[in-house]
Order: sequence, then C-alpha cells, then structure tokens
Amino acid sequence: MKKICLGIFLLLAVNAYTQQTIAIRCGSLLDVRSGNFTKSVTILIRDNKVVQIGANLKGDTTIDLTGYYVLPGLIDCHTHVLLQGDITSEDYDVQVLKESIPYRTIRAVKSCTQSLMNGFTTIRDLGTEGAGFADVDLKKAINKGEMEGPRMLVSTLAINTTGHYPIKKSDYAWEINLPKGLQEITGADEGRRAVRSQIEHGADWIKIYADRGYYKLDNGNYRALPNFTTEEINAIGDETIRSRKRLAAHAMTRDGIIAAINAGARTIEHGSGMDDECMQLMAAKNVFWCPTIFVNEYVAEGRAKMGSPINKYFSASMPNIFKKAIKAGVKLAYGTDIGGYAWNLPQAKDFEYFVQWGLSPIEAIRTATTTAAELLDMEGKIGEIKEGAFADIIAVKINPLENIKSLQQVSWVMKDGKVFKHL
Ligand SMILES: [Zn+2]
Repeated sequence: MKKICLGIFLLLAVNAYTQQTIAIRCGSLLDVRSGNFTKSVTILIRDNKVVQIGANLKGDTTIDLTGYYVLPGLIDCHTHVLLQGDITSEDYDVQVLKESIPYRTIRAVKSCTQSLMNGFTTIRDLGTEGAGFADVDLKKAINKGEMEGPRMLVSTLAINTTGHYPIKKSDYAWEINLPKGLQEITGADEGRRAVRSQIEHGADWIKIYADRGYYKLDNGNYRALPNFTTEEINAIGDETIRSRKRLAAHAMTRDGIIAAINAGARTIEHGSGMDDECMQLMAAKNVFWCPTIFVNEYVAEGRAKMGSPINKYFSASMPNIFKKAIKAGVKLAYGTDIGGYAWNLPQAKDFEYFVQWGLSPIEAIRTATTTAAELLDMEGKIGEIKEGAFADIIAVKINPLENIKSLQQVSWVMKDGKVFKHL
C-alpha cells in the first residue's frame, strides 16, 4: 500500500514538474473584489489553472501584456447561442421553420466563437428555442476541444405551459404540425416530467417562462398573464431543487416574478416591469436579477411598428426601475440575452447602461465576474484571477475603470489556460 502511495505521489510530482508553465506579464492587473490595479505583476499558469501571482515570476513561455489592462474572463448569465436575433415573431419563425437544427447548430458554433472573442469565457445559455438539446452537444464539443467556445452552462429546451409560446398555431394552417420553441406542459406531473427529462438530457439549469401578455396600467405599473398554475410552477421548482439544480425564470412583472420566487427561482430574467414588492422579495430571498437591457432597446422599435409598443414602455421606465432595484439591494448579474439580438452586436453593451444609471465601473464589472460566479455556484473558480482559479483571463487596451466601453474591444483572451484571441 505504501509503495503504491509513494508511486502515485512520485507520478503526480513528476507530472506537475513536467507540465509547462505560462507566465503572463501584466501592465495592470485588476483585482475585481477590491477594485484596485496591481502594476507590473506576473500571473503564472499551469495546465488550466492560475498557480501563482507575483512579481517577476518565470514560466516556460511568456506572454507580454505589459501594455494592457488585465482582468478575469467575463461571464454572461443569459445567452442564446442557437438564436441569431429576432425582432419580430416572423424573424423567430423563419429561424425555427426554415433552418434545420443542424444548420442552426452550425451557426451556433460561430456564436460560441464570437462569445469567446468578445471576452466572455463563461456563458449560461438559457434555452435552445426549438433546437432540441443541441446546446448539450455544443458544450460537449467545446469541452472536448472539438471547437472554440466559452465554458457553457446549458438549460436545453426551457418550459412553458401549453399554447403560451411561439410558434403560434393560429398564424398558420392549423393542420400543419408545427414545432415549438420550448417544451410545453399542462399539470404538475408534466412539469416534473419535463424537469426530469431535461436533466437526464444534460440540463445544468432549468429555464421557465413565468409570464406573458405584458401590459401597462394607467398608474404606470405593469402586469401580465401568469403562465403556470401555482401547482405547476411549484412542482417544477421542487423537482429542480430536489435534483440540486437551479431554476431561472423569465418573468417581466409581478405576475411571473412573485410566483417564480415562491417556487424557488434563483434568477429573474428581464424583470423589466418589476414593482417595489418584487424588488423587496428578490433582495430578501437573495434572488439574482439579469436585466437584459440592450436587447429590449434592440427589439422595441420593430415590435412597436408591428403594433406592440410594450418594449418601448419598458425602455422608458427601465432607468428608474434599475435605480430603485439597486437601492433596494437586488443582486445584479450580467445577462444580455444575446442571440435575442444579433451576435455581431456588442455583448458588453449592457455595462454602458449600468454605469449611465449610477453604478461605478468596478460595480458594473463585478456583475459579470464575482456576482455572476456566485450565481453559477462557481465562486473562486471563475470571475476572478487568483491561485486555484481557472485561467480565464482577458486583456484590454483602455482602462475599463475610466471608460467602460473598453470592454467592447477585448484584445486578448485566454480560457482554461489556452489563448484563443492573440494580440
Ligand atoms: Zn432569453
């Protein structure tokens, strides 16, 4: 037994010794927790982890980032790699009806590369929108090194109730059997079945759509139609939590937000029409908010032209809702809904709104680093550069604490100890 242990120890020691190290020489390294830069410091990487940070460390190879600001790889908590922008329901239907799932997956390969080039080294992808379990395949291919892409947490099909999600059957000849953008359920048992089946297929998260049909009242408040019965949403939440998974809820107003929180949701997606009670409940229960600002702007005009002005109303009231939510202590996490808007548009755009509406640049950066890591239960592994963390690192030319737009021009990207975007 002793001999075996010694053998294993020697093997590990030799292995560690022979593994190549990379020394990254940084001009300024951002500590996202303190908000301070350390000048002229070296990060030492072995395999896919940060092993040491200090002055003048030597590695087998050296990467010179002395002219750059270096920070952890960014995290986007709300993406759709299998979507390519849909302003109107027609844009959406075209993708789901005219593009096969293999074709959409080929396009998604490009989205994954784009995310990485944008400096987002981890994404939580919230629903394939009719593309089955293709997100699980993309994640698998990335992890096996078959293709480039960010670290992915996936949610597969997403869940809504029967008849409450595109493709809308009354827009088409009823005798055609049309695909749907997600898995529909009726009844608590079907909800449980959907959760179990999605987890069986590889879902890391369960995504639900908690409300629809949003409208504005004369007093300025927003309401919607709740999608689930209390039994249905609670069954989905219970099944998710018992499986040690997390629930993400698309919810715009109190009609979806409160029901989702009571069912155990970890995150509220969009929340564009939330009221004070929602904010207080979110703060009290430690529920994260992914506000997805730019996507709403992106679709607002086009949808208003089609007769649905609600996104314009949301855009107008969002600065005020945002400020109130932050004041109430709601935990803000970075989530863009990119894919809902075209992948060639900036993924780092929402930072600009955050800063415009009162966050300091470092607070804005934390939403996509330390807070996002906490949301994903990956604290200390991603979202910060420290010993033992994954080597997910980016570099920018302009100081992001002076100009947050700097994050829209990422010069260099490393994920898992491998450089994907070179200087
Ligand atoms: Zn979305």
